[in-house]
Amino acid sequence: MRAEPDIGAQSGARPGAPLVPRIEFREVSITFDDEMVLDRISFKVAPGEMKVVLGESGSGKSTILKLALGLIRPDAGQIFIDGEEITHLPEEELQPIRDRMGFVFQEGALFDSLTVFDNVAYRLRERGASEEEIERKVMRMLAFVGLEDAADKLPGELSGGMKRRAAIARAVVDEPETVLFDEPTAGLDPPTAGTICELALKLRDLRGVSSIWVTHRLDDVRLFSSKFAVRAWGDRAPSRDEGNGLRAVNTKFLMLRDGRIIFEGTDEQLWQSDDPFIRKFLGFEIFAGEARGTLSAVRE
Ligand code: ADP
Ligand code: MG
Repeated sequence: MRAEPDIGAQSGARPGAPLVPRIEFREVSITFDDEMVLDRISFKVAPGEMKVVLGESGSGKSTILKLALGLIRPDAGQIFIDGEEITHLPEEELQPIRDRMGFVFQEGALFDSLTVFDNVAYRLRERGASEEEIERKVMRMLAFVGLEDAADKLPGELSGGMKRRAAIARAVVDEPETVLFDEPTAGLDPPTAGTICELALKLRDLRGVSSIWVTHRLDDVRLFSSKFAVRAWGDRAPSRDEGNGLRAVNTKFLMLRDGRIIFEGTDEQLWQSDDPFIRKFLGFEIFAGEARGTLSAVRE
């Protein structure tokens, strides 16, 4: 068969072809200082899927992202990216795989001495893109995150929310098919956190990007399960009618506790869980009623 160019998440899989997960963990364990932080964790992130990883501080959420990037190695188990096992891949073979992914770390970690434009251009320059391509892609990305007017600013001149948006622009400028987000809404006020989540909605619903979104914020959970992005002129939403309203089908939730996955499923299953720990996390008596709504659209 003729070799085909990577079809990308947007176009979906070839009909009949098995769906290769963008990320797969199989029975992954890691121990730090005699503490088993992850204990035989298995999950998959399908093309176009958003996996929201929940868990208390110290439950191993960031560790999962570092393992997926090959920055640390598991003690046992296997990790696959786009079907290729990376568990024991040497560093030089990991780099091209990492380059296909975007990642946004909690602190944003912009280069303080570079302008917003140059921060966002960084990955493109690193791979030797032409100035014309850089200009086009960076400006398009700054428009996507609403920072066109801040292109010449230094990170020190930006608000917390703008810094996170710049970090997201930098992570996704070269159109990675998979993006890892480590608590990108932590420490932001609720409206600003909402705008950051909406960027992820746009990546999820308009571009078919696969992602892991680490958070301990219930607001993120509510937003990802109650909203979807549509283009200004209207689009079919990635959703299905459940009789009681539309539900997002491209988002799954996963909860970690004591090194194990104690829940994996849809938002609906999450809200219906009778696990006391999950119900407590969901602030059940206070919020669950209002949170379990139907989908509403966020226009581009
Ligand atoms: P989370 O992101 O859920 O808050 P982490 O994945 O950062 O949790 O950390 C999980 C646990 O592993 C914590 O107890 C942390 O102290 C420990 N840990 C993480 N990375 C390392 C490391 N490189 N060396 C030692 N301990 C670590
Ligand atoms: Mg963390």
